[in-house]
Amino acid sequence: MNRFLELALAGVQQLVPYVPGKPVDELQRELGLTEIVKLASNENPLGTGAKVAAAIQATLPELTRYPDGSGFALKAALSGKLGVAPEQITLGNGSSEILELVMRTFVSPEHEVVFSQHAFALYPILTQAVGARARKVPAKNFGHDLAAMRAAVNENTRVVFIANPNNPTGTLLAREDVEQFVASLPTHVLCVLDEAYYEFVDPAVRTESLQWPERYPNLIIARTFSKAYGLAGLRIGYGISSIEVADLLNRVRQPFNSNMLALAAAEAALGDVDYLAQTIAVNNVGMQQLTTAFKELGLEWIPSSGNFVSVDVGQNALPLYEALLQKGVIVRPVANYEMPNHLRVSIGTERENQIFIQALIEVLRGV
Ligand SMILES: *Cc1c(COP(=O)(O)O)cnc(C)c1O
Repeated sequence: MNRFLELALAGVQQLVPYVPGKPVDELQRELGLTEIVKLASNENPLGTGAKVAAAIQATLPELTRYPDGSGFALKAALSGKLGVAPEQITLGNGSSEILELVMRTFVSPEHEVVFSQHAFALYPILTQAVGARARKVPAKNFGHDLAAMRAAVNENTRVVFIANPNNPTGTLLAREDVEQFVASLPTHVLCVLDEAYYEFVDPAVRTESLQWPERYPNLIIARTFSKAYGLAGLRIGYGISSIEVADLLNRVRQPFNSNMLALAAAEAALGDVDYLAQTIAVNNVGMQQLTTAFKELGLEWIPSSGNFVSVDVGQNALPLYEALLQKGVIVRPVANYEMPNHLRVSIGTERENQIFIQALIEVLRGV
């Protein structure tokens, strides 16, 4: 019994912590295996890029100093690349912090927060943490049902989360539908468009939303360096919004919320177009490799626009997850997303994917 439970905020008392993918070191300790394949957290399989490594090396002698709390250089680089004003950008300790800042800035216990069933696990956690009421809207074919989400918006709604593509389903919304939804919202509702997997989406069908905050000042776009840019371990992401909203987020954030190594690495990563291109290429090939294998195995999967794919294993997925662990392969069970028969698999290198496929064939056969 936690003796401080009663002292915690009402929302916190009910809170169930986020469960991350199992770390490689932990499984290594448990099993004594030398090679572990982790395809559980949608991380970049290419490893740290050379330009990022050099930028971090160059920054090491400065670590006794505080970082630039304004993030001037990174904001300038983002501004140039994305065509938005630096004042529209909020930097965060991962884009998770951007989501959290929106909640802490705007949401209190009398408010409601709208998100979809099967949407990213952080949305309910952040809602609960501030003691607000969650309105989870049933999904349609695993994707967001925007019409139903719009219908769930009322005078108490303060934030709506849209993940596009969504994690763990990989589902993508059509550009027109997203814009129509955003345009339809009353101005007292802030819309967070979570684009953590933006870079992986086929440019032909991608939602280009960066100019929208000028038209819809209640829109916040969240992006991250954790996935396509390969900086998950450093924790750096950003929000793009109207200058007014950015001003408020800036008041709430910790003054040095983005650390010095992350700022330097993110700037270098932005400039490393080859790394990004290789990341996308490896992802496209790997997606093909995995889905071809699923097809051969007679398994259904949810078509994904991200760097992961959720496959229906036709039975409770937990025993298969455990059996894969025994073979040194870490994937992600998604029962906590109300998808008990699915496993979410991040796209790895060709070799990692092959090891996973082989292990999956074996565990499905029970060997
Ligand atoms: C990974 C992810 C994020 C953010 O990750 P950070 O590492 O905090 O930037 C945000 N939204 C979704 C849907 C994600 O999958």
